[in-house]
Amino acid sequence: MNVILLGPPGAGKGTQAKLLQELCSILQLSTGDMLRAEVAAGSVLGKRAKEVMDAGQLVSDDVLIGMISNRIDQPDCVNGFILDGFPRTTPQAEALDQMLDVKGLKIDHVIELSVDDEAMIKRITGRYTCSKCGAGYHDEFQTPSVDGICDKCGGNKFSRREDDNETTVRSRLRAYHEQTAPIIAYYRDNDSLDIVDGMADIEQVAKQLAEIVV
Ligand code: AMP
Repeated sequence: MNVILLGPPGAGKGTQAKLLQELCSILQLSTGDMLRAEVAAGSVLGKRAKEVMDAGQLVSDDVLIGMISNRIDQPDCVNGFILDGFPRTTPQAEALDQMLDVKGLKIDHVIELSVDDEAMIKRITGRYTCSKCGAGYHDEFQTPSVDGICDKCGGNKFSRREDDNETTVRSRLRAYHEQTAPIIAYYRDNDSLDIVDGMADIEQVAKQLAEIVV
């Protein structure tokens, strides 16, 4: 089964993709994570992408399309995948359809997490993760039970994404509305688009997603 999760930055695509990955034994493919790995590795692509990401803009379609096409061909995608952060533009959505056609694959569900912009700014600027296990926290909504210690692994180092500051978040939201929101109409016209209330709490959103895919 292949799934696309749509929604602005902070909508909870990453969190829900991880839960769906467990539930359905299909792989989360986050283009943001892939790009951050390139940045961390200091690759040529990572060096070029970093500037664009720090400005809250979108990396070029060609790079992303090639990246996803190669990733889908890996053996660990054989049961299916959840696209988290891709496609983000109409050319990406069209290229995805064409590449899946050639590979003999198709998208089974396109799900939009519908949320409120101002709430996203608060969600994103307060979020941070455990550097050891990746568990997610928030300054206000989800603090560790013991201050400074990760509930899951006991780690005491945490990190924040460089692009999670308010200025960049506002650019990312603008990029979403200008370049990504139009693809919702594309999927509404071409496939069955499901809309889920992304403002609900994590468990309730996960329940709604499970009802759609299972
Ligand atoms: P994310 O982790 O999905 O919020 O992505 C972080 C940043 O990576 C975005 O603000 C973009 O600069 C870049 N990025 C991730 N996915 C894409 C994509 N499909 N197309 C273009 N840029 C992307």
